[in-house]
Amino acid sequence: MKRRTWIALLLLAALLLTACGENAEQSAEPSAEQTPQPVEETQQEEPAVSAPIETKEELSVLKVENLPEDFILGMDVSSLIAEEQSGVRYYDFDGQEKDLLQILAENGVTHIRVRVWNEPYDAQGRGYGGGNCDIENALQIGQRATQFGMKLIVDFHYSDFWADPGKQMVPKAWEGMDIETKTAALYDYTRESLQLLRDGGVDVGMVQVGNETNNGMAGETDWDKILPLMAAGSRAVREVYPEALVAVHFTEPQNNGNYRYFADILAQGGLDYDVFGSSYYPFWHGTRENLIQVLTEINRDYGKYVMVMETSWPYTPEDTDFSGNSINADSSVARDYPYSPQGQADEVRDVIAAVALVPGGIGVCYWEGAWITVPGGSWEANSALWEQYGSGWASSFAAEYDPNDAGKWYGGSSWDNQAFFDPAGQALDSLLVFSSLREGRGDQNRPEPVAAPVEEEEAEPALNLLVNGDFETGELSPWELIDQGSGGELFVEQKTADSRDGDWHMHFWNPNPDSVDFFLEQTVTDLAPGSYRFSISIMGGDCGETEIYAYVKLDGEIVATVPMEITTWNNWDTAVLSGIEPGEGQSLTVGIRVKCQGTGAGAWGKIDSALLTPES
Ligand code: CA
Repeated sequence: MKRRTWIALLLLAALLLTACGENAEQSAEPSAEQTPQPVEETQQEEPAVSAPIETKEELSVLKVENLPEDFILGMDVSSLIAEEQSGVRYYDFDGQEKDLLQILAENGVTHIRVRVWNEPYDAQGRGYGGGNCDIENALQIGQRATQFGMKLIVDFHYSDFWADPGKQMVPKAWEGMDIETKTAALYDYTRESLQLLRDGGVDVGMVQVGNETNNGMAGETDWDKILPLMAAGSRAVREVYPEALVAVHFTEPQNNGNYRYFADILAQGGLDYDVFGSSYYPFWHGTRENLIQVLTEINRDYGKYVMVMETSWPYTPEDTDFSGNSINADSSVARDYPYSPQGQADEVRDVIAAVALVPGGIGVCYWEGAWITVPGGSWEANSALWEQYGSGWASSFAAEYDPNDAGKWYGGSSWDNQAFFDPAGQALDSLLVFSSLREGRGDQNRPEPVAAPVEEEEAEPALNLLVNGDFETGELSPWELIDQGSGGELFVEQKTADSRDGDWHMHFWNPNPDSVDFFLEQTVTDLAPGSYRFSISIMGGDCGETEIYAYVKLDGEIVATVPMEITTWNNWDTAVLSGIEPGEGQSLTVGIRVKCQGTGAGAWGKIDSALLTPES
């Protein structure tokens, strides 16, 4: 450990000696919310490189109550290979040089996340930087993660470089394609990429179809085109890694109604996915209370798991690689915690505690926790490494693809002050947070800063215009069942474990092939003029080819449908049809159609939680 500290101090001295007269470089991932950072500030830096080691025994982590055993404690280390190629090494708490992934596994990290770009290279094969994160990069990182018992989260950007709310540029190879061709290309690309990981023995736990797709994906901005692209990605995941979760990923949870808007689009488009992921950077993205509320709504109303895909916090305000940082001492952003290892640990702990309070909250992933400075010691030397190995956020070679952002501001790491490692690669105390969550560590007197979700006391339970929409009377009435199948079981059943809410649900089962075929519907009349929203949930399995959809009829004519799917037990699929506007005097019928061309294994399923409400 001493040796590492000395090297760190020498490195710092080198930084200070060479700092004067350097250009202040600006870098810009994930978006342009930074200001240029005068390098002079580096000179005022305390030797942060050694301080954390001294405070190790003092780090406190407030215990998180009732954290599920399988809660995902993730870390994005997409830049790892480029960092290593640039000479970066990582050291554990004993000062031992180790594989970064081993250090993370030993400290309680369960999942490794890695972004994937289609082709982050120019015509001469020179990398765009940001880790040059193609699928080969994901394979290397994934194999090492698997070796140390962690699962991989694959984050397809479906672009050749950074994709976020500011840009979702089409991969070069897909430029000019019509949507059918592009959808097929995305399917093939996803399938082949995942097959490469599968053949390489990578344990993939989750796959994201798109990254922060608020404003588009793969060059498309129209949801009529984005939806089939996402569906193609999802289908490829199901085929190659059926055991993995399919995730979507959005950001800006602080924008009122944002997530409900996206979740509605996905539900109405019938997208097959499991996890609604959110970025949550406390300096940009509002309060934890708001995060808890919007994620709780997504789980409650759409039946999806929720997760924070990206979060982070600075352990220091200082830049350490001569390339300005996204968050620094002058950033005018929310500052809930000090910029220190303790502040970083507190932020991580509190976000985990927040997600753990959300029903269906399955995990939190830290973003780029090891993207520290390359060891050049000057801007010129570092820049040469960033250009050669892609270890900066962008190289000059990205200019052809992204002239307005990367082309102007290419440079090093904008995130080195948010890593869990000091500039010499020594693990910071804050890395202890993951292994300390369940038991707590040190001072436990800090007040619990994360409040449980606020119950909407004044709000009455959502008015359900359906009678017996949850089947809790134990009767079928007033539902109408139109059975076109061949017997088997089809009735309202009492079994709490198989119900989405309450104790009762509609049950079906038939051991014969091609046997399940029914409509279940309810008609409502005398509705006040206005707009209505219908949702219904189903789970089941062993169904072979299915034709399942929720539908809405006006005066007996089907006017809208949403496809639904059954996969396995307890994996509920919720359909949402909104904007239903019955004319005056029209009757409204809502229902679900289930047809299974069963394989003879015994198609079965459960239907529950039908809800018809006025929309405000
Ligand atoms: Ca930097």
